[in-house]
Amino acid sequence: MKKKTQPEYIPPIKLEPEGYLDEKGNPKSLKQLSEGITTLDETFEENNYQIRKAWKTYSPTNIGQDEIGRMAYVPETSMRKSESPIKRKIGRPYWILALNKARDQRPKTEDKEKENDAPCHCKLCKNILEKNMTITKIGNYSITPNGFPYFDYALLGIDGSTPFRAQTDIPRPEEIDTWGKICAIFNLAAFFNPPHAGASIYEHQHVQLFDPKVFKLDGKITPLPLFNKEFTEEIPVRKDSSDVFYVRGYPIPTLMFLGYNAPDKVYNAAHLARELNFAFNIEVLIADDQEKFYFQLRNPANETSICMKRKCGGLEMMGVALLGDIEEKSGEKNITTDGTKVSTKMSYNTMRKNLINASYPREFLDYIAKRF
Ligand SMILES: [Zn+2]
Repeated sequence: MKKKTQPEYIPPIKLEPEGYLDEKGNPKSLKQLSEGITTLDETFEENNYQIRKAWKTYSPTNIGQDEIGRMAYVPETSMRKSESPIKRKIGRPYWILALNKARDQRPKTEDKEKENDAPCHCKLCKNILEKNMTITKIGNYSITPNGFPYFDYALLGIDGSTPFRAQTDIPRPEEIDTWGKICAIFNLAAFFNPPHAGASIYEHQHVQLFDPKVFKLDGKITPLPLFNKEFTEEIPVRKDSSDVFYVRGYPIPTLMFLGYNAPDKVYNAAHLARELNFAFNIEVLIADDQEKFYFQLRNPANETSICMKRKCGGLEMMGVALLGDIEEKSGEKNITTDGTKVSTKMSYNTMRKNLINASYPREFLDYIAKRF
């Protein structure tokens, strides 16, 4: 029997603001990175390693005498695949189902009114920012651990501009550009949930950041279904288009933007969607040495998520269902990850139907795609 040893205390790690770390761990300026963005080499893996290492130091198990806050719990996530009954040449398309069993076990204390001049944050990030949980800052965004992580390395990009930007505001091109930069610096993925597209806090802008390599099934890194090249194909919206694509082979109609002007195009797509009264999601992934921006329409009036008894989340639009919400226990009761209940309550086809209902048929996205 191994003796239980107290994990070594590591002071919460802060990374050089506005910068990244090179392969030797030395801080470098963001500018140098932007210039060299065409190759995603070991430096990016090193940065990814650094931010994951930093994230862990905000774990509640890393107890030290400091004034820095901790996440509410260590996520205990189990994952499984929900595979299509129909086999394709390459294999079976799938969804990823994830259940986090960890819950906030911190002692409940009364909210104390703080008499300082710190700007008032929304309830999602108030604690995170006041407890100094910012790992680094990129542009106007504080990069922090997600206070209630669903899985390891769940992070938040918290807007810190003055005046604050609201989640209801259409993100500006420079903001979308910064999300891409954050993802490129740390080799992370991002998603943005505006109102009626998975968001719960409207008064302040946040972008969810995560490590796409965190999804492991049978010990193998499993790509998010939207990003799985085995089942999806990027088709230019027009013959002469080299920077706007449809993602085919994925049930939710999706546009993908590449290149220098991608953030402007995503902004325009979002603007158009808002004018037409559609909700939308934006996702960012680093792949093929590029920042890829994904755009999907959302139809909150029509969506049903039978399993979770709530609206579909932003992550779900990429093919990952988070079973059993942290705040509501309704889903949790009926779900076990090793029993049969998950598969009966959330079959491949049920989730497919939920996601199709949460979006609009392709003609609607075509209308937007035609503008590019
Ligand atoms: Zn906030």
